[in-house]
Amino acid sequence: MSEIVLVVEDEPSLQDTLTYNLKKEGYAVEAVGDGRSALEAARRLKPDLILLDLMLPEIDGFEVARVLRKEMTTAILMLTARDDEIDRVVGLEVGADDYLTKPFSMRELIARVKAQLRRTRMLREEMEKIGESVPAHETLKFGNLVIDLTRREVTLKNQPLQLKPKEYELLLFLAEHRGQMLSREFILERVWGWDFIGDSRTVDVHVRWLRQKIESDSANPTRIVTVRGGGYRFEG
Ligand code: CA
Repeated sequence: MSEIVLVVEDEPSLQDTLTYNLKKEGYAVEAVGDGRSALEAARRLKPDLILLDLMLPEIDGFEVARVLRKEMTTAILMLTARDDEIDRVVGLEVGADDYLTKPFSMRELIARVKAQLRRTRMLREEMEKIGESVPAHETLKFGNLVIDLTRREVTLKNQPLQLKPKEYELLLFLAEHRGQMLSREFILERVWGWDFIGDSRTVDVHVRWLRQKIESDSANPTRIVTVRGGGYRFEG
């Protein structure tokens, strides 16, 4: 069965070009031109990937991503005309998995789409494997910080934390290598994947978000410490 890609783009010529090129790659494609239709189509289709333009009529791409992220784990690749670091960070924060700044080449777009779908498949397979092999409620405990591997839930002082999927994966990866110095590049490769097109600042941004959620004083972290000239180490 073909993987389903939902294209959300209000500019008709770009919407057509995206649809044409994705269909040529063998994907089942549906295209919509505004945020409201995007939410409706995403809920109906349960796509494998959403290409989401940022500036949209009715409801913008940020809001669409924010709403969908609460409902589904579908990969979201955001398209934006603004090459602005703040947009990137906000986009990642609302739950986009990757970013592409206009103008982009179709070759680059297809490469990113393939990379995201490959990651989705790998994660799905891994989830299935974990589901089979991990006994019920296997947990990692670090004082009042508890990672429930079965439910993919993290609690601090018995309060559940709202972690984005990448934050969870990053925390789990760090926790599984407690006490070891992990370089940004190594973390990027292992948590984001070798084909992730980004840089190690992505790791720093996610570490910052994690610290805000799990450290009692995120300015003076004691759980995830920075190793000078290297990377990060999880102390527990
Ligand atoms: Ca637009």
